Amino acid sequence: MAKSLGLFSGGLDSMLAALLLRRQGVEVTGIAFVTPFFGAEKAVKSAAALEIPLIVRDIAVEHLEMLKNPRYGYGRNLNPCIDCHALMFRLAAGVMTEGGFDFLFSGEVLGQRPMSQNLNALKAVAKASGTGARILRPLSARLLPVTAMEREGLVDRERLLDIQGRSRRRQEELARQWGVIDYPAPGGGCLLTEKSFINRLRELLESTPEADVTDMELLKLGRRFRLPPSAWLTVGRNQEHNEAIRGLARPTDWLIHARECAGPLGLVSGSASEENLLTAAAIVGGYGKGKNCQGLLVTVRRGEESRMVEVAPFSAEELASRILP
Ligand code: SF4
Repeated sequence: MAKSLGLFSGGLDSMLAALLLRRQGVEVTGIAFVTPFFGAEKAVKSAAALEIPLIVRDIAVEHLEMLKNPRYGYGRNLNPCIDCHALMFRLAAGVMTEGGFDFLFSGEVLGQRPMSQNLNALKAVAKASGTGARILRPLSARLLPVTAMEREGLVDRERLLDIQGRSRRRQEELARQWGVIDYPAPGGGCLLTEKSFINRLRELLESTPEADVTDMELLKLGRRFRLPPSAWLTVGRNQEHNEAIRGLARPTDWLIHARECAGPLGLVSGSASEENLLTAAAIVGGYGKGKNCQGLLVTVRRGEESRMVEVAPFSAEELASRILP
């Protein structure tokens, strides 16, 4: 029996591609990737529903490196979809070899996304992944050149599909026929396509090219402030954020909180001057219960180093003028 490994987002297309192969007697395993910008929750749920084994890999470091300089550029937002797919296929190819799989597949549909799933984009993904000859796209295979897997008789081309375009009609019909009732709505799930997030991300990448995975995680939390020229402040909005911020602090980051009044936790990252730290203390103080104290004591701590500063907390107007959208 042929063994296949599929890029499995957990969306309907990846579910149908997996089922299509399984219905031909091909053994199917899914692989899902995790970065700060997308997770594997949908994949885990859909794989469980279809009883497909799923491998989950954290690729945050490799993905961020690619995101900073994608060979094929970005889509409408900050989504480097061609390079992202190529990276996923390249990493999946390593798992294919290690795990003795015969080929890779995905739920990509020709023409479904004008930028990243047109014929040229699919070819570019195959080439950039370094493993193009072992990639099958079962949902559109009959519109694409014959693959080695079809020639080798691992899959029957006649039983693959010729879906193309943006309409979901055929996929929905297949889902009905094959009893796939519970599947996620299309789209969503990648922060690199969300305007509210990419403004923050763009500003960070432009000013701090060495930003790392922890910086990406911080971007998702709380309120964000720029401390010119090269530091950033993240301030928790709630207890959950405060705990996440504490857990993310690196030895080079400063943690900031009011000493005697309840309030949020702030984290200063980057290269912070003394003036930056005082500004950060005034911002953090402005969100706490001591916001009306004129001489608020704020703890500024980095590793074992801890000291107290006295600041006048910023007013609501000052905070509103400094916070990043
Ligand atoms: S939408 Fe996000 S996860 Fe999907 S291919 Fe594009 S960059 Fe990658």
